[in-house]
This record gives sequence, C-alpha cells and structure tokens, in this order.
Amino acid sequence: MDFGLSRQQEMLKQAARQFAETRVGPRVREADEGGDFPFDLVQQMGQMGFIGLVNSREYGGSAMGHLARIIVIEEMARVYPSLGFFFQAGNLLMYALENFGNEEQKGRCLPALCKGTKVSAFAVTEQSGGSDPSAMMTMASRNQTGYVVNGRKTYITNADVADLLGFVARSEGGFSAFFVEKGTPGFEVTRREPRAGFRCIPVNELSFTDCHVPPANLIGQEGRGMAAALPTISAIGRTGAAGVALGATQGAYEGALKFCRERVLYGKPISDLQALQFMLVEMNTDIEAARWIAYRPAVLLDQGKTVKDLGVEIARAKLLTVDVALRHCLKAQQAMGAYGQSPEYRVEMYLRAMLELLTAGGTQEIMKVVIGRAITG
Ligand SMILES: Cc1cc2nc3c(=O)[nH]c(=O)nc-3n(C[C@H](O)[C@H](O)[C@H](O)COP(=O)(O)OP(=O)(O)OC[C@H]3O[C@@H](n4cnc5c(N)ncnc54)[C@H](O)[C@@H]3O)c2cc1C
Repeated sequence: MDFGLSRQQEMLKQAARQFAETRVGPRVREADEGGDFPFDLVQQMGQMGFIGLVNSREYGGSAMGHLARIIVIEEMARVYPSLGFFFQAGNLLMYALENFGNEEQKGRCLPALCKGTKVSAFAVTEQSGGSDPSAMMTMASRNQTGYVVNGRKTYITNADVADLLGFVARSEGGFSAFFVEKGTPGFEVTRREPRAGFRCIPVNELSFTDCHVPPANLIGQEGRGMAAALPTISAIGRTGAAGVALGATQGAYEGALKFCRERVLYGKPISDLQALQFMLVEMNTDIEAARWIAYRPAVLLDQGKTVKDLGVEIARAKLLTVDVALRHCLKAQQAMGAYGQSPEYRVEMYLRAMLELLTAGGTQEIMKVVIGRAITG
C-alpha cells in the first residue's frame, strides 16, 4: 500500500527501513536485554533527519510533516518497537516549543533536539491520575525572579536521559507549561519504573523541590498550559502510539509468516494449514486497515487541519491500532508454538511492548470517551 506517498516520502520510508534493518536490527537483543538507552542510535537517527520531521527548517527540522513522521516510527517499530516509542515521547516537547514557544526558545532548544545530540521529555502525569490532568498538584508559584516549582510527576518517558524536560504545573490563572534543563537545582529524577515492554526507553518518576524556573522557560502564556499540552499529546503522543502499534504488528506478522513458511509438520509447511493461513490472513487484512486509520490524521494534519478538528480521528487511530496490535502480536506468537516464546525469534518482544500502549498516550478507555462524546453529542 502506498497511500499516495510522495516520492520524497517513499525515499524516506526506504531510508528508514534500511536504517532499521541494518543498524537497529543487529542491536535489538542486546538493547532489549541490557535496557540501556541507545544514545548512539538516537544520534544517528538525528543525523539521518528522522527526528525533526515536524519541526521547521529554520530550527533544524525538515518540515516533511506528520505522515513522514508516522512512516519513520512505523519502520523503526517494525524492527524494534522501543525505538519507535522513543519518538512517541521524544517529539512532544519539540512540538510544544515549535507551536507554542517563542523564537528565542526555539533557537535555544530545537536544533540540538532535531539533530539528536539532545533528548527531551514531557511531563504531565502525576499520581493523582493521568486521565484527569486537572487533578495535578505540582505548583509553580511566581516570585520576583520567575517561578518556584514544587511537586512530583510519574511515568515520564525519557526523563532519565533527557537534557530538557517540558512539564505542566498549576499556576496563577490555571495551568502553565514550562521546561527545565537537566541539572537545574531542585529538579531530580527519583526512580526508574521497572517494565517489561519498551525496555531500553526509561520511564521515570521525578520531583521538583523549590526548583527555580526563569520566566524565559515559560512556554506560551501563563495560565494557558493545557492549551499547549493537550494538542501536543494528541498530535504527537497519540499519533505516535498508533505508528508504534502499526509497525510492531507488521513486524510480528512478518516474523510469524516467515516461521510458518519454514516450519514443516506432516511433511508440509504449516502455512499450508488453513487454520494458520486464516490467522495470517486476518493479520494481513487488519494491518492494512490499521495503516489507513493511522495515516489518515497525519495526512489531514499535513493538509492544514487543526489538532482540535482531528481529536476524534486521532483517538480512533490510537484505539484501533493498539487493539489490532494486541490481538495480532498474540496470534503471531500462537502461530509459532513454543518458538513464539523464544527471544531468538523476537516475536515475543512485540506483545510485551504493546501492553504499554494500552496506557501510554492516554488509555484505550479515554480514547473511547473522546469518540463517545463526539458521536453522542
Ligand atoms: C510506558 C508509558 C509511558 C508514559 N509516558 C508518559 C510521558 O512521557 N509523559 C506523561 O505525562 N505521562 C506518561 N505516561 C502516563 C500515561 O499518560 C498515563 O499512565 C495515562 O494517562 C493513564 O493514567 P494513569 O496511569 O494514572 O491511570 P488512571 O488515569 O488512574 O486510570 C485508571 C483506569 O481508569 C480508567 N479511566 C480513567 N478515566 C476514565 C473515564 N473517564 N472513563 C472510563 N475509564 C476511565 C483508565 O482507562 C484506566 O483503566 C506514560 C505511561 C506509560 C505506561
């Protein structure tokens, strides 16, 4: 399926596929078992131009757009879902600064983030519940020189390795969005969550204790932080989750298909057994449907539709692709018998990773809440 990809997008897809297969593929087991963040691969992805696809040229991006970004995420996740997930969170602050930051902030932060020489994270969730960000307790109080921030955030992707952390806090007039640099006194990453899914991408708890944030690090207007954070989570976090789910399902399907063609039982490849053929057919068909629904909001964003207009399309894309991924990554394992459990065949990795997408970027139930509100009026 080409979805009418332009020549430039087609070339990007080929470059991403080649990078994923030749540079990422040989590293998957080591990265997944070791759990270390692959700084060198991120830098190489930056050099290849894969990270700043939705950022403007003026600030180090390529402005190739949202569909280009989804294509790259899909290709990375097909080989190694964790590397696709890097983009899901790693592009959040980049988008928030590009769309809501001022020129000074963009010039200061974006070129290194696009190049992959710096990494960012974006923190909204607190223990009070990610689905209800209005319950957050982190507080930014104004003083003569800026803001004093106190509070904690939890389940924040990349925080441990980030040079820049965007976050939302309560403030005068509502909520405000800010960013801090690594090493700012009073800002500390306090815990790495133990997880089985995207193992080489850290997810952390962090705290602010009388942390001084200068006014120059306020993103957008004071009191309008949610107006920056919510579209960012939708346009980048949810679309990114859909891209990761799509690529991972494709990877699991290809692994199962290869295995079924090679595995011989009763004197024939098991791909000749109709029960297994039907499994493969269902995967193949649902992946195609998932690809259309994942690409659609990206295409519409590239055509100039606003994130607000596309909330339902984006929620549908996340809901359906993650649902397809969970069903079919499990089926791929099932089709391989005992070998489906073996890390040597890699297929088990896809299902482990997909479990995290039930929640990351907003839960499946929250996607249904968004769609439900729209269809019931
Ligand atoms: C791998 C991973 C990475 C993450 N990275 C980030 C990050 O980088 N930055 C960040 O800010 N956050 C991040 N998160 C947090 C994520 O956004 C939250 O986990 C998510 O929003 C859900 O919040 P919660 O876990 O507190 O669950 P809760 O909000 O407590 O929800 C608990 C249950 O209640 C259900 N529920 C809640 N409200 C409703 C409703 N109205 N109707 C029906 N059911 C409902 C939920 O679906 C869920 O099943 C990450 C999470 C994971 C797992």
